[in-house]
Amino acid sequence: MTPRIAFAGFNLESVSSVPQRVELDEFQRVCTRGDEIPARFRGTNTVPGGCMAICEAEGAEFVPLFHTLLGALGPASDEAVQFYTRELLDGVAQAAPLDGIVLFLHGACWAEGYADVERHVIDSLRAAKPDLPIAVALDYHGNVDARMLRGADIAVAYRHSPHIDMGETGERATRALLRMIREGRRPGLAVARPGIVIPSIMSATSLMPLSRIMAEARKAPDCDISVMAGFSYADAGNTGMSVICMDWAGQTSAEARALEFSGKLYDLRAELSAAVPVLTVDEALADLAAHPATGRPVVLLEHADRMNDSTHFLRALLEHDPGPVMVPFLLDPESAVQAHAAGAGNRIALSLAGKSAPETGGPVAVQADILWTGQKSFTVSGRYQQGSHVDLGLTALIQIGRVRVSVVSHFAFAVDGDAFTIFGESPQDYEIILLRSKTHFRDFYEPLAERILVVDTPDLGPANVQLIPYRRLDTARMWPWCKTPDNTKKPETGEVK
Ligand SMILES: [Zn+2]
Repeated sequence: MTPRIAFAGFNLESVSSVPQRVELDEFQRVCTRGDEIPARFRGTNTVPGGCMAICEAEGAEFVPLFHTLLGALGPASDEAVQFYTRELLDGVAQAAPLDGIVLFLHGACWAEGYADVERHVIDSLRAAKPDLPIAVALDYHGNVDARMLRGADIAVAYRHSPHIDMGETGERATRALLRMIREGRRPGLAVARPGIVIPSIMSATSLMPLSRIMAEARKAPDCDISVMAGFSYADAGNTGMSVICMDWAGQTSAEARALEFSGKLYDLRAELSAAVPVLTVDEALADLAAHPATGRPVVLLEHADRMNDSTHFLRALLEHDPGPVMVPFLLDPESAVQAHAAGAGNRIALSLAGKSAPETGGPVAVQADILWTGQKSFTVSGRYQQGSHVDLGLTALIQIGRVRVSVVSHFAFAVDGDAFTIFGESPQDYEIILLRSKTHFRDFYEPLAERILVVDTPDLGPANVQLIPYRRLDTARMWPWCKTPDNTKKPETGEVK
């Protein structure tokens, strides 16, 4: 018998404090359905790509329902959560008979009307299909607890950040699901939480001591351990780090291993929270002034920007003029329209970026030379999401003094060379590159950059998580508010089913 494996993906990382809700039409703009999914994702380094590859390799039938993925933005609208939950239930009903499903969820999607969006999606499916094997593939930045996964049989997450293992994660989920179907038994599944909140900037898996813990987790035999960074900018009861263990030796073993790795995180909580130095804008400018250009670009990371339109550091670069600068993928649809109307070869006044929230630093008044405008899209060449399609919408390449900016209409992170090659340029053409990615830029830029300066600005995603105004997370029980959280010696764990 050929097992029929459905696939559905609903994926958003939500910064609770971003004022713009992500409405249904934003998800719909990037949603692919049915046969479009194999056409778009076969052979790509993505979760559907990995799921499809294992189905084809192991003789299972891949039954694609839908896939929508938006990266990191604000809260999802309640309507969007309801819409895709409904579509999931309808899709599963219409695709019957099914032998299992792979659900691709983030883990840190946040919506005003839902205490836990992913739990709602999983529980809704479990209520409709009590016996359907459900495998969940999560983002490493998901906020997870045992209640979220109580309806799942299998749960795995990315084990690299940058997420260069998205395809592999789809493969791990699908391989485990097919094993469960074949052997007629589910693995043990446990979640342990060490009570730690870290900013995204510290979650890069190349940083010590996290890199050592991740390497140990990836090597564990006959079980699948996902160490989760969590996402501190989503305000939920389960915000924070966690460990998911799926273990074929059974539930007792799963719980013991989840606790073991949770304990490793707990013991290193202070080091995990301070894995890279964080500079002020003035300290970063002083660093640039103190070091002559080497021919290799310095990467500045304005990491606290959550909507790709912050202007704190752009303003400082325009004032201090430290050298040729590229600012890729600055989000400002309004300026893109104005630049396009003015046309290439002209100079116009722009009120540039800084429009999504007061914390972004506000718009900068500039005189910009228009170098190029038009619709822009590309296929990702870097390992992170390799092969995926990115649509920037109406785009303008503009020059302000020695600062060049690509102004885009759709939110996208500049994480690899594509942000340059789409304009016939290369990162080495610049002395300074101003990025807004948190960890995903590292795969491409660590080997290439002269150095990486992480800069903190008074914005929506501060490095100091104690500045985040939590309403749902009980911070009194968490590091760094509490130096020795009580729950950490006996981390919360629990049988998932
Ligand atoms: Zn992530």
